[in-house]
Amino acid sequence: MLVEKGRISAFTQTPQADLPIYDYGDAAIIPGLIDLHIHGREGCDVIDCKVSSIETISCSLAEHGVTGFLATTVTTDWQQTLNAMSVIGQAYVQQPSGAQVLGGYSEGLFFSEVHKGAHNQDYFLELSQSHLEAMINAANGSLKVVALAPEKPGANALIKFLTEQGIRVMLGHCDANYEQTQSALEHGACGGVHVFNGMRGIHHRDPGCAGAVLMNDDALVEVIADGVHLHPAILQLIYKLKGPQKIALISDCINAGGLNDGQYKLGKMDVYVEHGVARTASGSLAGSTLTLELAVKNMHQLGSVSLLDAINMASIVPAQFLNIADQVGSLAATKQANFAILDSNFTIQATYVKGQRCFLRSANEG
Ligand SMILES: [Zn+2]
Repeated sequence: MLVEKGRISAFTQTPQADLPIYDYGDAAIIPGLIDLHIHGREGCDVIDCKVSSIETISCSLAEHGVTGFLATTVTTDWQQTLNAMSVIGQAYVQQPSGAQVLGGYSEGLFFSEVHKGAHNQDYFLELSQSHLEAMINAANGSLKVVALAPEKPGANALIKFLTEQGIRVMLGHCDANYEQTQSALEHGACGGVHVFNGMRGIHHRDPGCAGAVLMNDDALVEVIADGVHLHPAILQLIYKLKGPQKIALISDCINAGGLNDGQYKLGKMDVYVEHGVARTASGSLAGSTLTLELAVKNMHQLGSVSLLDAINMASIVPAQFLNIADQVGSLAATKQANFAILDSNFTIQATYVKGQRCFLRSANEG
């Protein structure tokens, strides 16, 4: 693969004499992974409202083959939410040195208590255009996705409003039934937030939000393939219903990612991590400590999906969702040279963003 001026220029058997050659032996070149939904890593969280936290997360993600991500917020007080949006906006302009900030993802505030997960309901707000406009303005063009509960009063009109602003709406942390979800999808909502987790599941007389996003051919579903959030049979079920084009593998990783078990904070919630699984005091799953290359491996092995499809679910599919597939998301001539080197042990050996190597595993590391 020939890389020139930060872009992939060609695939050739005959290396050009004037260009340096990087040979990673038997390892594979894969497209840079894209994480649509990630809160934090290595002690840092997007909700810290610090550009330096986003820098840490960005570099940590690069170690796992990720070259782009949506900086994702969690429910917290209103002012802190606006601060986080503004910091995401700054990081989006400046760009950190590892994985690129592709924008912001608002996960919080406009949810239902029944499936709140690790979101503190004391801070839940009415869904209103003025709240949404304030977030959009604070984010300064960087807000790409808003998650909300479609049964909230006025949801359909506001889904239409957000869609008209070029912001994608994802449905989750909700108790919406099948019909309410269908209606939200008809008004422009794009799919389901970590499908099955934080939403009304499928009952044979009440197919719920999960049933609606799985049955709608256009809806994208986020999947947390960590082997804990979803049973392997459910990964397979999702794949049978959605196929390879409408599943985005996400990490939903929190600040405990890359660190030891222990007690952490997710926004205003205490979170306890045991054997890498994060839960609130009441036992609800609270994000994950998953990395995206592991999600790919799990989707391949537990979800019985081909490796190619699993990689696509973490690269071209999220790129298409964000409307940036002409620039990133696959290895093709003229696209940004965002790629990673994956060895046969499913370990990332190196990661490149725009042709620049931003991570190299040292020889003595695992
Ligand atoms: Zn969530």
